[in-house]
Amino acid sequence: MKYEFSITKNPNPKKKPDPDTLRFGTEFTDHMFIMDYQEGEGWHDGRIVPYGPLSLDPAAVVFHYAQEMFEGLKAYKSEDGRVLLFRPYMNAQRTNRTNDRLCIPQIDEDLFVEAIKALVKIDADWIPQKEGTALYIRPFIIADEAFLGVRRSNHYKFIIILSPVGPYYVGGLTPTKLYVEDKYVRATDGGTGEAKCGGNYAASLKAQEEAHAKGYEQILWLDGVHRKYVEEVGTSNAFFVIGDEVVTAPLDGTILPGITRNSVIAILKKKGIKVAERKTTIDEIVQAYKDGKFKEMFASGTAAVISPVGELRYKDEDMIINNGEIGPIAQELYDTIYGIQTGKLPDDM
Ligand code: PMP
Repeated sequence: MKYEFSITKNPNPKKKPDPDTLRFGTEFTDHMFIMDYQEGEGWHDGRIVPYGPLSLDPAAVVFHYAQEMFEGLKAYKSEDGRVLLFRPYMNAQRTNRTNDRLCIPQIDEDLFVEAIKALVKIDADWIPQKEGTALYIRPFIIADEAFLGVRRSNHYKFIIILSPVGPYYVGGLTPTKLYVEDKYVRATDGGTGEAKCGGNYAASLKAQEEAHAKGYEQILWLDGVHRKYVEEVGTSNAFFVIGDEVVTAPLDGTILPGITRNSVIAILKKKGIKVAERKTTIDEIVQAYKDGKFKEMFASGTAAVISPVGELRYKDEDMIINNGEIGPIAQELYDTIYGIQTGKLPDDM
């Protein structure tokens, strides 16, 4: 280990939640990691302390101008008790790309990963082992200088919290119903679409709520300029099986570079399935549906790993995909990625 962190053990550890009733993001472990950044000094004073509320100045930049970022990944415990993290360096690299866009200082990749490992080690008893459960890791950075002018903050906190989570689909993989959003946009050229910053998510809530009210679980976002290219599904990357090819949006600035997306592409290539990162219009998808060539759709992300899509609604067009059932490619990808993440399959990607 390159870095040393001070550790203050929680004198009042909590009762661990029942693994059968775990949901997403409602329970938190006994400890958290905190480190400060001061302009001129850099990142310093990395420490593991009891989990609890923060004390922040009401003028802190993050409260007013949303200078912040976050990440998300999971730790699993293998059957033989090993603690497994899935591609944590990719989260570190994505953090620095987000930081660059948000004028947040860079953070050493080893420091990022070692802080996660040190915290997960302390709270390793919190990693649930039941099928589909995991310990969700949420690193984030907030600008906490007390200053109301609009410029980059000179002080930040890098914090990591941990949350034991249940399976995304309680009864196993279930196809979702999606609404193609044609009123609101998530990202636009030159915007912050490829960054993992809270503002993107605040701005997406309204569309999400309206889609829910119409009876859809998620949104398929279209691009913000032409309103015709398919981009992402809610907070996950979108894949379409058209004919014998799997297509997904290219990483050209408006798409979050998903770590699961990266594995999906690698696995498909390894299996000899044609995969293309290319711009695809919603009209091309509707036409493929009419021609009987739109065979499968799924989304990829840390929360659900792979989420099959059974229905896609665009204006008056209601597309039932693969009879509303889980497609073979989605199922195989889920089994492969989840197998690697939980140590049941070798990680030879
Ligand atoms: N797109 C968005 C907007 C997201 O929030 C996420 C979740 N991080 C993803 C895609 C999927 O990324 P990952 O596979 O790294 O979880």
